Amino acid sequence: MDDLKFGTRDKRGNWTPNATLEIAPFWIGKWSRIGHFIKDMIWPWNAFHMATALLYWAFVLPDIETMKTFGWGWALYLFAANAIGIFVLYGAIEMFFYVKRKQENRFKFNGKFPAENPSDVFWFKSQNLDNFMRSFFVGIPIWTAVEVVMLWCFANGYHVFGWLDWQDNWLWLVALTLLVPAIHEVHFFCIHRLIHVPVLYKWIHSVHHNSINPSPWSSLSMHPVEHLLYFGEIVWHFIIPSNPIVMMFNSHAVGFGALNGHIGFDKLEVTEDTPLDTHAYAHYLHHKYFEVNYGADGIVPLDKWFGYWHDGSKEAEEQMKARFRAKKEKLKARQARTTPAE
Ligand SMILES: [Zn+2]
Ligand SMILES: [Zn+2]
Repeated sequence: MDDLKFGTRDKRGNWTPNATLEIAPFWIGKWSRIGHFIKDMIWPWNAFHMATALLYWAFVLPDIETMKTFGWGWALYLFAANAIGIFVLYGAIEMFFYVKRKQENRFKFNGKFPAENPSDVFWFKSQNLDNFMRSFFVGIPIWTAVEVVMLWCFANGYHVFGWLDWQDNWLWLVALTLLVPAIHEVHFFCIHRLIHVPVLYKWIHSVHHNSINPSPWSSLSMHPVEHLLYFGEIVWHFIIPSNPIVMMFNSHAVGFGALNGHIGFDKLEVTEDTPLDTHAYAHYLHHKYFEVNYGADGIVPLDKWFGYWHDGSKEAEEQMKARFRAKKEKLKARQARTTPAE
């Protein structure tokens, strides 16, 4: 597929899409785009997360009686399912698009592949190994632990609103399912903006940002405190009227869905004619410029409202540079005030 029909490539091989990012159409009165937007929100990624949540419900999670007591047996089984799921999903994309490079650098934002740049910031100087180990030995155990605690709470009725069943509450539960991407954007924006505060950035979030050119394994490569904050999103289902299946869907959207922002390609050529949109561009720009796009796709456009939105256009680039310049000036002025004159 010719990616130059959809974007441009610079001298360094970096590809930029022609289409700029847009916040959700209902914020900007583009009512005719709502159907397209809803389809895009559901298919295929969230439909996939819902499908895996249902598969877990049917085949991985034990019955409610078992979940009433903490047990290593079912917790480890859940951990194994999560680890295998991540390995297969992230690993498949890593394998086909980063190791075998079946699409070479078509639709790839950064023309280079992480393996071409060994760096001291990573364990064993390898972004892949470092990211992989942080994901499997820290990230997935923390994710599973949050799920285990939430399932144990639901099973025991330790919940502000109890366990809502589908029969009597289907309308709300369907609405809540559709609201999960909005919950994700608000939660992620808040915790993410918080860990960009300089002292927290240095201590916690810099680990994730070591991957300036992210690949699938970068998705869950974080400091353990960031893992806790990130997967803490699942805990919202403790204080909103919910059901374990919706909670597990949210959990999968966070755990498996972390992949989206870090795929590194705008489209995956799954077949020759049907490329798969990755929704990776907004978060790619965050990894490139750091202080833009703290949230996600603009479903709840907090970035736009707070002035952090970068849609990929030249104008957005200029606005960002002006913001960075103003910040620098402010910092300089403050330093001048606090440093006594000689
Ligand atoms: Zn990231
Ligand atoms: Zn960040």
